Amino acid sequence: MKILLASSELFPFSKTGGLADMVAALARALAQAGHEARVVTPLYRGMLKKFPQIKREDWEFNLPLGPHWIRGGLWSLEPERGLKIYFVEQPEFFDRAGIYHEQNVSYADNDARYIFFSKCVVHLARWLPWHADVVHVHDWQVALVPAMLQQLEREGWGNAPRSCLTIHNLAYQGVFPGESFQLTNLASDFFNPNAAEYFGLVNCLKAGIALADVITTVSPRYAREITTEEYGCGLDGLLRRRMDKLVGVLNGVDYAEWNTTKNPHLFQPYSVTRLAEKKINKLELQRLVALPVDEHIPLYGTISRLAEQKGVDIQLAALEEMLNSNIQFVQLGSGSPEFERGYRELAARFPDKVAVRFGYDESLAHRIEAGCDFFLMPSRFEPCGLNQMYSLRYGTIPIVRATGGLDDSVVDFTESAKTANGIKFFEYSARALSKGIRKSMAIYTNANLLKTYRQNGMKADFSWAKTVGKFVEIYKSTQLS
Ligand code: ADP
Repeated sequence: MKILLASSELFPFSKTGGLADMVAALARALAQAGHEARVVTPLYRGMLKKFPQIKREDWEFNLPLGPHWIRGGLWSLEPERGLKIYFVEQPEFFDRAGIYHEQNVSYADNDARYIFFSKCVVHLARWLPWHADVVHVHDWQVALVPAMLQQLEREGWGNAPRSCLTIHNLAYQGVFPGESFQLTNLASDFFNPNAAEYFGLVNCLKAGIALADVITTVSPRYAREITTEEYGCGLDGLLRRRMDKLVGVLNGVDYAEWNTTKNPHLFQPYSVTRLAEKKINKLELQRLVALPVDEHIPLYGTISRLAEQKGVDIQLAALEEMLNSNIQFVQLGSGSPEFERGYRELAARFPDKVAVRFGYDESLAHRIEAGCDFFLMPSRFEPCGLNQMYSLRYGTIPIVRATGGLDDSVVDFTESAKTANGIKFFEYSARALSKGIRKSMAIYTNANLLKTYRQNGMKADFSWAKTVGKFVEIYKSTQLS
């Protein structure tokens, strides 16, 4: 099949979270399965310098954005057979210090930036000599694309591609004032409660949910959760109405990036049969983050956006209590200044037990995954979550709240004593998380059990080769409708 994917971020060119990893890996897996995948993404600042192999295409856009016309250019790269990436150049919109925000403040023109980008996606779908069967859009930034495709069909485009929307996180919907609707240049009837309108506001994700031929989200459990009021972020009614077109597919892992045997970021390679060498990564990590170097102290880690979703409040409270035991904790992340302060204070109170690093550091992320004994993900909600799957592959036992993809990917002892690879807790509370940490401390003192958990985790297979067939089925289902 021919699939045009569209995403506001794409690893390794741009990344703020799991979205970038997922789209890159899915595109690659589609190509490797013999399909033709093309991806459209913005050309952000610094990309050409970092990736000089990206080449200019002989293609310029001049597209309406409300009453104005906006020019853009096109660049491209073919990283491997069957895969081509298009980069949309629009310096005023994309040549900026941040992707979505600077210093925690969203760009005021994110509506214009991503409506323009969505138009470029549709323009490519329309005018490329390569005709996609499906346009697969990801998250709110491109969720108006299905509406734009429908508009072109109304205007006489006979064989417009079908559309697939993946929701990576329902909490981010792209909501803007009603006046922003004029930037879409869509017919006015798209601004109604069955499409883009949400109580007088423009809601980009809502339009995608209402109008895409098929909707996926990144784990089966999250697909069920978002149809409930508790997790539905105001769109549960619409999602229930579209339930027959809503499918949950657990994200895969790109093991070419996230592995312990051929990985330039690790201090020492190791594997399920050479597990003892994991220890060297622990000792080097302790040294790197200036914690006491001691293989006997259980080391806990977290890599995360510091957002409410991630359960930072209960994690800080649980650590406060648990750090009175002989454990160490290392955290990497950035986000809310209030949570950053919380971690700084924790590190100040437990200087020889806690190491915190703020900012984005891909290399340190691998080292934390490899060096820690346990990985904490106490999310309030978690559409899929990748780090728990990375942890499993790295033999680092995840301690997770049983929600969304965390519940779908980790096996607790109560579910299967034989294949248990992590610890789950249910209640969203510091107390429940502390109990999970206590269980992990017990596992840590039992060398055989610890090894079994690690091996079970390392053997779990979330490879894209297994997952990609599900997407192909989903794409095919749109062709029949
Ligand atoms: P989300 O997409 O909600 O942020 P996921 O667990 O799905 O969460 O994906 C997060 C991805 O971003 C993982 O690949 C993780 O390693 C990475 N990541 C998050 N914060 C950082 C950071 N500060 N430095 C390096 N990588 C990070």
